[in-house]
Formats: sequence, C-alpha cells, structure tokens
Amino acid sequence: MKPYAAQDIASEGRQYQESTITKYRNEYQRDRDRVIHCNAFRRLAYKTQVFINHEGDLFRTRLTHSLEVAQISRTVAHAIGLNEDLTEAIALAHDLGHTPFGHAGQECLNQCMQSYGGFEHNLQSLRVVDELEERYPDFRGLNLTFETREGILKHCSQKQAKTLGSVATRFSTEGQPSPPSLEAQIVDLCDEIAYNNHDIDDGLRAKFITVRRLRDFRLFNEHYTAVTDKWHNLSQRRVIYETIRRMIDEQINNVIDTSLAQLDALQPSHIDEIRMADEHLITFSALMYQKHLELKQFLQSQLYQHYRVRRMSYKSHMIIKRLFDVFMNDPYLLPLETLVEVQRLQEQLGNDAGRARAIADYIAGMTDRYAIVEYERLFNPISGFENV
Ligand code: MG
Repeated sequence: MKPYAAQDIASEGRQYQESTITKYRNEYQRDRDRVIHCNAFRRLAYKTQVFINHEGDLFRTRLTHSLEVAQISRTVAHAIGLNEDLTEAIALAHDLGHTPFGHAGQECLNQCMQSYGGFEHNLQSLRVVDELEERYPDFRGLNLTFETREGILKHCSQKQAKTLGSVATRFSTEGQPSPPSLEAQIVDLCDEIAYNNHDIDDGLRAKFITVRRLRDFRLFNEHYTAVTDKWHNLSQRRVIYETIRRMIDEQINNVIDTSLAQLDALQPSHIDEIRMADEHLITFSALMYQKHLELKQFLQSQLYQHYRVRRMSYKSHMIIKRLFDVFMNDPYLLPLETLVEVQRLQEQLGNDAGRARAIADYIAGMTDRYAIVEYERLFNPISGFENV
C-alpha cells in the first residue's frame, strides 16, 4: 500500500471503545462485515435505483448498484495502491440511507422535512450506521471507524456539520470543504461510473432511450463502432453489453492513470496531506470528464425525465407525502416500536421536530413494496382490513 493510503492500524478509531474479539480481520474488514450484516443493507434489495423494484427482475436495485460500486471502486483502489478494505466498506454503505422510490422519494421526504432540518440521503446513511441500527449491547449504531464514516458523509451543510462532530469537521468552515481520504474519493467517482453505465443498460432494456440517440455521444459511439466493426453478426444485446463493458473499462483506466499522475506530481507522504490538498486527487482527465458529463446530462434529460419514470415519481411522491402527513397528525397510527422512537426523539429534539425525524427515519427505512403495502393498509378503504 502507498504511504498515503488509509492504514487501519493508524485509524482515528471508533466512537465507542470495544474489546476486540476478532483475530483475523482488520478494522475496515470489520466495518464492511458490519455493513453487510445490518438490516438497512438487506433492504437495499427492494429499493428503487431508477426503475421501481417490481417493474422487472433484471433492473438494478440499490443493492446491485452498491455491489457494482464496490467492485469498480476496489479495482481502482487496488491499482493505485490504496486500502481496498476501506474502499469496499464505504462503497457498500454509501446508499444505506436511501428512501424507497429512488430520488423521487428523497425529494419528497426532504420537502416534508423542510421545517425540521430537511432530509438528505447521504446524511441519512451516516445516521443509519451511527444511530438507527441496533445490533450491539453497549451502544446504538454500528460503531464504524472514523474513516468509513468520513467516506459515507459525502456532503453536508455548514449548519449540519456543527451537529455531527469530528466526522463533519471538513464541512464546518466557509467555502470548499477539504477532501476526504483517497478511498472515499474513489467511491464518490465510481458511484457515478457505475450508475451512468448501468442506467444506460437498464434504460435500453426498458426502451426509454435508444442506441441511435446514444450514438451522438463520444463515449458510447467510439466503443459501439469498435464493437460493430469487429463483430458483424452479433445480437444487439451482446453489442450493448460489450460496448458498456468497454466504456466502464476505459473510464476506470482513465481514473487510475490520471489519479496516479496527480499523486506522482504531489508525492504525498501521509493521508493527512491528502486531506489538506486543495482539490480531489482521484479524478477523470479533463477530456474524459467532458465525455462523461455529456452522457450524464443526456440521461438526466432523457431517462430520468421519461414519462414513465415521471409517473413513478408522481405516485411515489403521493405515497410518501400522505404517509408522512398521516403519521404527523396521528403518531398513534405508527407501529409500536416506531412510536417508542417518536418518544425517544421528542425528548432529544422537541415535540414536533422529534416526531418528524422519527417518521422520516421510519419512511426512509421502508422498501418500495413495504411503502406501497403501508399505503394500502392506511388509505384503501375496501381492502387490507385483515392486515392493517
Ligand atoms: Mg450510489
């Protein structure tokens, strides 16, 4: 490993002291395992990435997305000589706080929470690992290392930073926050590589976007042309897989080569020098960034705004808004363990804010299908009486 990699023996540690009962794993491997074993991780299997979970079995979910991010991130970390275990732990945890129904869910919950500090999925991911998972006898949360938590908290406002302690120090001053570890920077960028590419695959499968339009973009067209020039009678599905495979490969290689050159020029000797640098050192080259951005903008305007995706978003807004409102008006409709949470948070945050936060935690933790079932139980007057 390079001297500027995160080293588990030099970790800034966990919030609560623990007697180590594991012999064969390092601290970041323990973090990864804690993430994999937690409830929020299993729920990712039933949460929307772009396509609602029950639209088809082949579309990405938050879980398969997280696995793809972890796989791409580890390749990059390994090639650069960074800490693969930490990278993997951050990648697997990065979306734990996502609401049901993808970005539509997060937007709606954020609107509902406007008067109570808002809702943001990456802050919620930190909240899940710090507070909401209950698996250990001596403390709430998973008690992850500082470095994993630092990687989970990708952005946060100056105001929120003040309430989060040392993990958010880099956000607590005016202007650009200082960079996190390189391992965290890798996950941040590989998240984008993963979703750009898998959303093209899923978008084509759903027929919401077309190869013809994608060929307007250099990153896609260069590889598509190379594949169709080499193989003349390949099925369209295989052409697409091979094209995307090559796109991911080119982007990963570009990140590795560009970042290594930047690190070579700077010659940092310790992780703290990474954190004090002016900018992120894990990046695409300028040209690759442009190509990547073109495609990303295309997906934003064509795929995420497709009328079928918008209909899904519209319905999810309705579900989340109505659930939030009904529970705010009458918390006694909540399941007992959530009502206990309401009381706990009311003591901490005050009546309305505490109630709202507990309800946001409850809704954010729902899978797509659970939210739909809960909506049915509460708002469908003619069905669901047997199982309210
Ligand atoms: Mg993600």
